[in-house]
Amino acid sequence: MVTITDELALAQARKADELMATSNTNPLTGIPVVIKDNMCTKGIPTTCSSRMLENFVPPYDATVVEKLNGCGAVVVGKTNMDEFAMGSSTEHSALFTTHNPWDLSRVPGGSSGGSAVAVAASEAIYALGSDTGGSIRQPAGFCSVTGLKPTYGRVSRYGLVAFASSLDQIGPLTQDVTDCALVLNVLAGYDPRDSTSVPYPTPDYTQILAADLKGLRIGIPKEYFVEGMQAEVEIAIKAAIGKLEELGATIDYEVTLPHTPYALAAYYIIAPSEASANLARYDGVKYGFSYLETGSMWEAMEKTRQYGFGAEVKRRIMLGTYALSAGYYEAWYLKAQKVRTLIRREFDQAFAKFDALVTPTSPTLPFKIGEKIDDPLQMYLSDVCTLPINIAGVPAISIPAGFADGLPIGMQIIGKPFSEETILKIAHAYQQATDWHKRRPEI
Ligand code: GLN
Repeated sequence: MVTITDELALAQARKADELMATSNTNPLTGIPVVIKDNMCTKGIPTTCSSRMLENFVPPYDATVVEKLNGCGAVVVGKTNMDEFAMGSSTEHSALFTTHNPWDLSRVPGGSSGGSAVAVAASEAIYALGSDTGGSIRQPAGFCSVTGLKPTYGRVSRYGLVAFASSLDQIGPLTQDVTDCALVLNVLAGYDPRDSTSVPYPTPDYTQILAADLKGLRIGIPKEYFVEGMQAEVEIAIKAAIGKLEELGATIDYEVTLPHTPYALAAYYIIAPSEASANLARYDGVKYGFSYLETGSMWEAMEKTRQYGFGAEVKRRIMLGTYALSAGYYEAWYLKAQKVRTLIRREFDQAFAKFDALVTPTSPTLPFKIGEKIDDPLQMYLSDVCTLPINIAGVPAISIPAGFADGLPIGMQIIGKPFSEETILKIAHAYQQATDWHKRRPEI
């Protein structure tokens, strides 16, 4: 955790006690939660694990934080992350590295690594994370917890520090699917303060959990069993799919989503482009780090950004600025957007035939700390299975689906837009029939 909010937690616990003395309670009343440090918390530092925002104390709460506070939640801390949510291992935090509780020499995944670890290590009952290309699901898979990225527009992004606004979504990391449904019940819904939030009815996500999987059609897209994938992962996911079949689902192993191999390239144009625009606001003038040892305004801005941002953030800003610049825009940004449309249509076509698609969450087991830090492309590749889902804007959940050499393996279940209840139902049925999600690391 970047900040432990002990005083706030005690005050909120007292308030929860008062609420519990009335009938005005929610299942989340009095339950300890941690929040990724890119969601604004009034009066509590919100650093994005960056030097740039190390001393930033927001004057307002994100909508999701306001909603949790409204039901008497107890916030015990803000969690470590890759700086500005750019990364897959939490090693890009400018503050410190978070370790995987299943093997302390390995990464917990990222960028919501601190949130996943807090739940896996029972430091909190649940956590909030954000997911732009896999940042909830990939660490959930690496730490053996349940992590949901809702449909784009399902949960308000108001007060989430922007990384790539057309891809970012907030979601829960929990011990199991039942908890995930309880938390989603509180988070989901229209917010007039987020123009991309969708005024679509929110069901009670806990209501559908009991049913079996009869009549559900599940597709297995071939392209997600990629070259370079670790055999242990493939074996575990195939076994998990067999379990879904036993539970009554109809499985089709011959599904193809042919544009999948282009998703990574499109993502690494679109996300950095949006990041370069979003991060232009950190100029040392209104808030955040400010370099003052100069009389020149331009030098102050340059040095503020030079010292305030880490290497990965600068890499993204440069990639994005390049892709958007005159003469390159058509060749890179516009082309990536066209690829995005193709990927989206492909998912639409698949969902005309299937209720859900199932894939591994990551192609590998959690890797060693330091293993990929000097090789950005290898790091980017750990999101091959998760980032097409953000490109399409659809919902997906990662749930524990096995272990190899004591290391967790995650299964991803992808749904149509606004069909969170369907993927929760499948995930819940799987958890009723297995106990991977009940294992906890010994620390
Ligand atoms: N790992 C991906 C990236 O570095 C996704 C991060 C995220 O979802 N926030 O961009």
